[in-house]
Amino acid sequence: MPDPNIDEAIASTNPKTLLQELMRCRSITPREAGALDVVQAYLEPLGFECSRMVFEGDGSYPVDNLFATRGTRGRHLLFGGHTDVVPEGNPDDWTHDPFAAIEDGGQIWGRGAVDMKSGVAAFCAAAAALVKSKEADEGIISLAITNDEEADAINGTQKLLEWAVEKGHRFDFSVVGEPSSARVLGDSIKIGRRGSISGIVSIAGKQGHSAYPERANNPAPVLARLASILSDTKLDGGTGHFQPSNLEVTSIDIGNRAANVIPAMGTLSFNIRFNENWDGPSIRKWIDERIGQVSGNGFEIEWRQLGNVANCFISPMGDDVKTVCEAVKSVTGREPELATFGGTSDARFIARYCPVVECGLVGQTMHQVDERVETSQLLDLQKIYVQIMRRFFIKTGG
Ligand SMILES: [Zn+2]
Repeated sequence: MPDPNIDEAIASTNPKTLLQELMRCRSITPREAGALDVVQAYLEPLGFECSRMVFEGDGSYPVDNLFATRGTRGRHLLFGGHTDVVPEGNPDDWTHDPFAAIEDGGQIWGRGAVDMKSGVAAFCAAAAALVKSKEADEGIISLAITNDEEADAINGTQKLLEWAVEKGHRFDFSVVGEPSSARVLGDSIKIGRRGSISGIVSIAGKQGHSAYPERANNPAPVLARLASILSDTKLDGGTGHFQPSNLEVTSIDIGNRAANVIPAMGTLSFNIRFNENWDGPSIRKWIDERIGQVSGNGFEIEWRQLGNVANCFISPMGDDVKTVCEAVKSVTGREPELATFGGTSDARFIARYCPVVECGLVGQTMHQVDERVETSQLLDLQKIYVQIMRRFFIKTGG
């Protein structure tokens, strides 16, 4: 029988110390700097079986990852997160040392406070509370924690999950602890994200003297026409869940300083954020057609991440998404909006295996100087994760 004294269990498993320990590790991508050791040391005494996996290759640096799992029967909940952080910038710009995790004015200050060491600490503490109340025994809890979410993301969550699934793990649902709230804790959870892809188009011409244009072929006007056509043509009008896909021309480069020379070559760079109407191949075709409209010249496209496209994902609306909403409401009193805004995250890799939502703090100060979290929000986030798991494990079906 579940222990009715869950509040007592929560009170005795404060995530604050764990968060501060994590924040004192300078785990700037991909340096682990002891951060995964801290998580592992916290989880093992709770009965989690921990595996450390260093993945490398595929054109990226080696990355340390942690998979922790507890339980063998019942429904399986996967928590996804990362311990790496973006660089702090100039430490002198910070009110407090960005890696000291100082508590001041009811807030804990430092890099990773929001994105997303708080999410990791709050979930670990929530698991600890449920182990204490014996409710953790009702199901399977796993954590997939990488130290490379903020950069390449090639040797991180993606490979860690492939490994776990090969080991026989099957997940029913996943919660990712990224900051998902817009203005106040619990006002939104993310049930999907748009995809992202970038490329650089090179337009070839023929160099020549600007007084003799008939002997040359100028790529500059072609690039200008291409920039307008790419910017003015709508990809789509949006979908029920997503805003319209958009293409932004991010740079046009010719680098020619001579006023009397027609340049031989120029490039145009772009980034596309796309909804579920698109994937890598269809985007590629669309771009090829636009270039065909403006250029008789030879062209080449260098695609970034084409083999590893950050595709769009959307989680099917099911009972477990409703469970997350109820859990958020039980702690914050707010009915979260089901959102799809923002950039990409590792949830896109988890979406291949099970429905996934992102549920976490307000993202306001992430990646900024003076990143910080209100201690009360950290405690509320722990409570939200406790309530998600309690509700999730007592359900018998999907
Ligand atoms: Zn993050």
